[in-house]
Amino acid sequence: MKVAISVGHYPQRQGNQIDWSNKRGKITEYSEGLLVAGHLMNMLVNRGIHTIPVPTGTLTEKIKFINKKRPNYAFEIHFNGFDRGYSGRVQGSECIAFTESREGVPLARLITKSISDRLGNRNRGVIESKRHAFVRDTLYSWAVIIEPFFMYREMMFFEDPAIHQKIAFAVLRGFVSHLNSQR
Ligand SMILES: [Zn+2]
Repeated sequence: MKVAISVGHYPQRQGNQIDWSNKRGKITEYSEGLLVAGHLMNMLVNRGIHTIPVPTGTLTEKIKFINKKRPNYAFEIHFNGFDRGYSGRVQGSECIAFTESREGVPLARLITKSISDRLGNRNRGVIESKRHAFVRDTLYSWAVIIEPFFMYREMMFFEDPAIHQKIAFAVLRGFVSHLNSQR
């Protein structure tokens, strides 16, 4: 069994970002995703799981790489966001899986629950999507896009220096629950 781990976005276009100058400077989906992915890969390797880091690149490049390697599972780490001017109360964790994906949807559900249980934020559930290329075009893998929380609304999570490790552990636990349910 092989698992590919991908970080959302790439150095030239880092996704959602915040200038947190009094703390850590500019933090982005990419910078935070790298940290989560690092912890997650270590945790998977420590469990003896064949783990494949997806090289940095555009989404198309990453999907191409994954299709070449054909891992059983592929995860990509993101952080949710919306325009800074947004005044609503949108918050919580969610995952995205391909519509009606036999393993992708239940796996995404377990990961979302594991994250929201551990972070104590809202469980927004699973978005079943035909639109997101990462879950649509990874042809040989059960793929999940992971969105642990909304960067702008839930900044308090970044106050916790162990947050990346916590998210990685939550993803691992959700994934292991899924593997156990497949036996
Ligand atoms: Zn993103």
